[in-house]
Amino acid sequence: MYHCVLKIAVFSPDFDLVNLIRDITPLDRFDHAVASFDTFDCRAAADCDILIWNIADAMSPAKVRAACREGAALVFCGDRQAIDGCSEAELEAADEFWERPLNGQYIRYRFGRLLRRIKLEKDLYLTSTYLDTAIDSIPDMVWFKAMDGTHVKVNKAFCTTVGKTREDVTGRDHCYIWDVSKEDFEKGEGVCKETEDAVMRERRTLQFTEMVKSQKGLRQFRTYKSPLFDSDGETILGTVGIGHDVTDLENMSTEIEILLSSMPFAILLKDNRERILNVNARFEEYFGVKKQGVLGRQFDEWNAGAFYEERTVNNEGFVEARVRLEENEGKVLEIHEDSIYDIFHNNVGKICIYRDVTLERQMEEQILRNSNTDFMTGLYNRRSLYQYLHNNSSGKKVSLLYVDLDYFKRVNDTYGHKVGDEALILTAKLLRESFKNDFIARIGGDEFLVVKLGYCEREELERGAQDLIQRMKENFGAIEPLSILSASVGIVQSEDFNVDIDLLIQQSDTALYKAKEMGRSCFCVYDREMK
Ligand code: GH3
Ligand code: MG
Repeated sequence: MYHCVLKIAVFSPDFDLVNLIRDITPLDRFDHAVASFDTFDCRAAADCDILIWNIADAMSPAKVRAACREGAALVFCGDRQAIDGCSEAELEAADEFWERPLNGQYIRYRFGRLLRRIKLEKDLYLTSTYLDTAIDSIPDMVWFKAMDGTHVKVNKAFCTTVGKTREDVTGRDHCYIWDVSKEDFEKGEGVCKETEDAVMRERRTLQFTEMVKSQKGLRQFRTYKSPLFDSDGETILGTVGIGHDVTDLENMSTEIEILLSSMPFAILLKDNRERILNVNARFEEYFGVKKQGVLGRQFDEWNAGAFYEERTVNNEGFVEARVRLEENEGKVLEIHEDSIYDIFHNNVGKICIYRDVTLERQMEEQILRNSNTDFMTGLYNRRSLYQYLHNNSSGKKVSLLYVDLDYFKRVNDTYGHKVGDEALILTAKLLRESFKNDFIARIGGDEFLVVKLGYCEREELERGAQDLIQRMKENFGAIEPLSILSASVGIVQSEDFNVDIDLLIQQSDTALYKAKEMGRSCFCVYDREMK
């Protein structure tokens, strides 16, 4: 990865030495730039990586060392006497001593060792820089721990999390770094002692979820811890840990759970392989199931048994179905399905929302019923009679029986409206019993209309009218205040298939009028001569 030019200066008038140095082959990734000077040159020395200085020079060894840049390798070259003449401090200043007379083979060997040492230092420096750069660029916490629990190396994120400098943290234990008391440490509270013991025991990378008190308060981390082995591959030197702060993520998923559970809808989440991932509490309530019973199940299999087969599409275009429950009638739910995409727009699943529309549908039904029926008797009203006839009469024969109570006013006048109402309710009951398969409407105070659709013998109509009149007589006769009541009936049948409904009703009214004229409690069939 690197290429390095070593600046080598030989401060000696000895040409043989200079040539010897120039002849030495550089190591891999290195080049040599050799310069020679007769005497020591402070300016040249300051820029060199290796300096070879002739000790016989007038400079003192201490001054020579002082002129070198930090980390430069300094070789003292001199005869035995000159070397022996150096004080201890002067000897300390040199990295190497080459004794004169110089031996070429020995110099090459010593210089080779010096080059290898420089390369090793360079490689070591680079390896350490790579590691520091790598761990500092990771947003997660990274730390290396020795066997005694002290921190050997940590990254920037670690320092930020604990609120201490790298210098402060290095060589310190958990208690100091995380401000945990010895008592809490012994109790194992807020510490990662147990997890590190587990890593040592298992001798492999393990994953944990741990809680720590950081500068930002209590945080939750997902930690990955591995043992560090020595070169024998056996001895554990310490551990390395990576801590990913998942507090915000955990908080977010907690918030989503709260959101799901507080929604006024049942919610189901499934993945893109149709497996059920999550459901909320309302889902459990609507479908009478436990969350654990549905999680992981195939959606289609669950869905097939969850609803009755009949499904409808409502005005807004959503499917509605009734939940199939064993013990009671399930709710009617409006079903919404939406795809869920990840940040790369991949479809990762679906959300199904079930809205309870039971009450809405019941109310709609009720409103419809109220607008089509007579509140007191429960029979159809005039409005629905017309609707029924218009919807069904084309192409069919229509027969009408117009029924009106006789002397009803008297009951009202004598016993009051409440008793009159009871007479109307009883009349409705008797009409239902007499004309079980026909459409019956209350079209006025004490006026009712029975509609028979399709072909019908006149005799059958007459029998029906007579039967009703008889039943009325018997039933009213048994109740003292109603005993004067009876019923008159006007009958008409359409002659062709194009029925004029208004005309037909008018004709049945004419027939009824005739029956009244005939003395009441009887029926009369319309004929064209009637006026
Ligand atoms: P007729 O034999 O000729 O049919 O005479 P009637 O006494 O039956 O009187 P008619 O059919 O002309 O009048 C019906 C009466 O019904 C008039 C009205 O006061 C009364 N009425 C209308 N609606 C109601 C109701 O909802 N309850 C009660 N109790 N009476 C009603
Ligand atoms: Mg009447």
